[in-house]
Amino acid sequence: MKSETQVVVIGGGVVGASVLYHLTEAGWTDVVLVERKELSAGSTWHSAGGMHTLNGDPNVSKLQQYTIELYRTIEARSGQACSIHLPGGLMLADDRERLDWLRMAQARGRYLGMDLEIISAAEAKAMFPLLDDQYFVGALFDPVEGHLDPSGVTNAYAICARQAGAEIYRHTWVQDLRQRADGTWDVITDKGEIHTEHIVNAGGLWAREVGRMIGLELPVLGMEHMYLVTEDLPEVAELNAQLGHELPMALDFAGEIYIRQEGGGMLLGTYEQACVPWSPQTAPWSFDMELLAPDLDRIAPSLEIAFKHYPVMATAGIKTIVNGPFTFAPDGNPLVGPIRGVRNCWVACAVMAGLSQGGGVGLALANWMTTGDPQLDIWGMDVARFGDWATLGYTNVKVRENYSRRFRITFPNEELAAGRPLHTTPVYDRLTEHNAVWGAGFGLEHPLWFQRPGEEPVEEVTFRRPDAFPVVAEECRAVRERVGLTECSNFAKYRVRGPGTAEWLQGLFTNRLPKVGRIALTAMLNPEGRIVGEFSVARVGDDDVFLFGSQAAEVHHSRWFLDHRPPDSAISFEVLALSLVGLSVAGPRARDVLQSATTTSLATADFPFMSFRRVELGMVPAWVGRMTYTGDLGYEIWVAPEHQRALFDLLWQAGRPHGMSLFGFRALMSLRMEKRFGTWFREYRPIYTPLEAGMDRYLRFDHDFVGRAAVDAERERGPERALVYLAVDPDPDEPADVIGDEPIWHRGDDGWQVVGWVTSGAYAHHSAVSLALGYVPADLAVAEAAFEVEIIGQRRPARLLTEAVFDPAGERMRA
Ligand SMILES: Cc1cc2nc3c(=O)[nH]c(=O)nc-3n(C[C@H](O)[C@H](O)[C@H](O)COP(=O)(O)OP(=O)(O)OC[C@H]3O[C@@H](n4cnc5c(N)ncnc54)[C@H](O)[C@@H]3O)c2cc1C
Repeated sequence: MKSETQVVVIGGGVVGASVLYHLTEAGWTDVVLVERKELSAGSTWHSAGGMHTLNGDPNVSKLQQYTIELYRTIEARSGQACSIHLPGGLMLADDRERLDWLRMAQARGRYLGMDLEIISAAEAKAMFPLLDDQYFVGALFDPVEGHLDPSGVTNAYAICARQAGAEIYRHTWVQDLRQRADGTWDVITDKGEIHTEHIVNAGGLWAREVGRMIGLELPVLGMEHMYLVTEDLPEVAELNAQLGHELPMALDFAGEIYIRQEGGGMLLGTYEQACVPWSPQTAPWSFDMELLAPDLDRIAPSLEIAFKHYPVMATAGIKTIVNGPFTFAPDGNPLVGPIRGVRNCWVACAVMAGLSQGGGVGLALANWMTTGDPQLDIWGMDVARFGDWATLGYTNVKVRENYSRRFRITFPNEELAAGRPLHTTPVYDRLTEHNAVWGAGFGLEHPLWFQRPGEEPVEEVTFRRPDAFPVVAEECRAVRERVGLTECSNFAKYRVRGPGTAEWLQGLFTNRLPKVGRIALTAMLNPEGRIVGEFSVARVGDDDVFLFGSQAAEVHHSRWFLDHRPPDSAISFEVLALSLVGLSVAGPRARDVLQSATTTSLATADFPFMSFRRVELGMVPAWVGRMTYTGDLGYEIWVAPEHQRALFDLLWQAGRPHGMSLFGFRALMSLRMEKRFGTWFREYRPIYTPLEAGMDRYLRFDHDFVGRAAVDAERERGPERALVYLAVDPDPDEPADVIGDEPIWHRGDDGWQVVGWVTSGAYAHHSAVSLALGYVPADLAVAEAAFEVEIIGQRRPARLLTEAVFDPAGERMRA
């Protein structure tokens, strides 16, 4: 066994093996994988081996596509048989909503280059004659779905990695991890120690326990999962002979079932409602290549449906029942990437669909480790999407919720109930008294909209316009015509101070730092010139700055800042989290309201647009910024949590004579769309450049910043894509607005083609127009171009707009 190496990958399941392989592909060959038992001994060996390309996140779908395409390559290179079957797959819808969802998935597939087809129930039956089509209304067929041998694939990765120089130590158990002062690691195994620069936790079923070796509580939990395999069935043999090929796979939403051919019989698995976590506190190291006791009663409700939907299953003899554990993160997507604040420590775990996702996870992590950037948009898998709030208890309730909803639709306006409320701010009860309908993000409750008095504060879930629509319209009207009050605590807030702060941040930010007392908007780029952050920068001293950014990206962004802090610097980088909470007042009468609460002059001459100062409001000391995301005259007011309730009461009292109304996040999204304001994770992501995103006012070329050379080069050649602003004509009979991820069609010389995708959309209540933002090739972004946006299977005309539909000159904000 080596005693020195560059990387130790802990865990030889399909994920660890993929990471090892991709590291060697990226040119790091002095790498080692340590496995306590045999390769694939964790959850991999008993997996059903199914693989699919569809995922709720299009970027994750792309990586799933990559994974499936990779298998033939590693099979050929390693000589290891992987038993790859690609009979295609059906997703079976039993009602209109599920069919709508499939139509949306098909539409998304268009710009991902996926060849998906919506077919009737009768056509689905022709492809999969074992189903009873009376239970279905239609299906989606994906030709790139199939199954393979999980152990074969794991070994194929391992053989390819070994061929490139990697070493694999089986029956070697990592028992402890110790970091040296220089950031390198001692990996303590039962066979000796390995000193290494990087560690990768690919511990699968034991990833949480490996994390605990260094004091981390990763949000990952094992769940029991069952599938059964029938005896060979004459019906299957007959159909194979008749069709000339294997039966396709099928996902059946109503029964929470997946079913496919296995040899001459059928394999059927289910995500049952009465799901059971495996080892919820600590996974036992004594667990070997074992299975758990089957519990058919638990999956009986799904089996009953299966017997109706696939009558042959009711009489088939069962050959095997597999019950094995595998791991989930609270949202069901993997945890990948570097751990904030711990040098050279990487994770690739909670991969619940290792055969669909393992290749993409390995590729992204290897890119990240070898180049400093995943080179792909993997936000949906980034371990940084959870903060310390994702405790063992939180993870448990969310994973159980996620498991039992695996085949359920989550509607775009749906807020899942488990694990809530977790974080609330002091005004939570006040806003609840005002009938707030709550949403949650990054563990924090935030008001979505305010139901009318006397009515239930709940929102109907739908792909179309919800019952909240007219109420949100009233909230928007209040802001545009009078004055609105909302909570804005759900931003990430940081304070950066100490000698060298200004110089350091200036080297990261594309815009010039504002003068003391002022706010500037800025982007932050990676060396390739892609957007890794977008912030409001409020400067309160020469070397004292507040940053406001996306709350969901709090760990992601703070990890970037901490990684880029100059060595041995005295700069303090503080994540303020809920130690600073906010309220925001917006609308033409916002100044009158605020002025009545303070002796500080708020006249534009004294407190112009984009000012940021300490102000006393009543008895409350606050930081007040003159800007809001509504694009109207407005203020964001930041206070310590102990003052937030008093501030709320003060503003509410002061606002009532001016016709103040509360407004929530839904109204804010409508208002920002009519101002053409982009947002992080939607318009601004690491796959776009600031020139593509039209962030011209965020860029100043009077200083050097990370990514500057790439931006200069892009200015020379021109951006490839452009962010376009579209007015969409919804279906007049059943209006539905754009949500995000819909394809954009364009009529060119060769007729209509999908040329891009929508990043966000909303109905702009004040301007009475349905709007979308999205990316298309730059040369197509011209006013006369003919566009359409596909909304729930319908292509709707869309017109390119060249300026914001509300107050394009920004006079209201500056008034
Ligand atoms: C019944 C069932 C059916 C499934 N069906 C499918 C399917 O159809 N399609 C699909 O994509 N996925 C399926 N899965 C999920 C799939 O099995 C997992 O996504 C995949 O196995 C995860 O792989 P992994 O490498 O992350 O973890 P694991 O396979 O658990 O590998 C982790 C490895 O790390 C080793 N290890 C841990 N700690 C240490 C240590 N301290 N020292 C040394 N070694 C250590 C373990 O021994 C283990 O071998 C199924 C799972 C189950 C249970």
